[in-house]
Amino acid sequence: MRPFITVLAALILCGVANSEMSIESDGEDIVLTWDAVEDEYEHLLMAFSPDEYDDDGLEWGAAVLKMLPDEETAEFPVEAVISQGYYVIPSTCIGCGLCVAECPTGAISLSDGKVVIDPETCILCGLCTSSCPTDAIVTLSDSDHFVLFGVDNESGATVLEEL
Ligand code: SF4
Ligand code: SF4
Repeated sequence: MRPFITVLAALILCGVANSEMSIESDGEDIVLTWDAVEDEYEHLLMAFSPDEYDDDGLEWGAAVLKMLPDEETAEFPVEAVISQGYYVIPSTCIGCGLCVAECPTGAISLSDGKVVIDPETCILCGLCTSSCPTDAIVTLSDSDHFVLFGVDNESGATVLEEL
């Protein structure tokens, strides 16, 4: 399956809904909670950016979490724990490959000219982010801005909540 981190750049933005999302941090993990989501979507996608969301969903942020509905209840999650890690902002990555060469564990690969980081292989050394000429590789902070997208079967995305 194509890595979900590259999917954000391919979404078609459908609309914006206003509601509340909340955040808690224990200094390591970040816990986000939001209102229950109707089951009209194929999946939910959480993205973040150090910059405030500006209604340009195609050029904004890095995807950190893809969420499917529960197999039994068909309900989507209303909470997510996001671990610290390194994430790529697709619109900022120019595909130069410098970070791929720098990574000591082979956790980074290029897909369609954009970098994808495998969180299972990443050892959080930070060499990639310091080698990136465009600051495309970022880490999470509880001061970041988060957006929850509802994505339909045709990759149409609706902004459900933002923080
Ligand atoms: S933090 Fe280190 S191990 Fe992880 S992707 Fe970057 S260079 Fe590779
Ligand atoms: S170094 Fe930065 S711009 Fe170059 S491929 Fe890696 S993330 Fe993209």
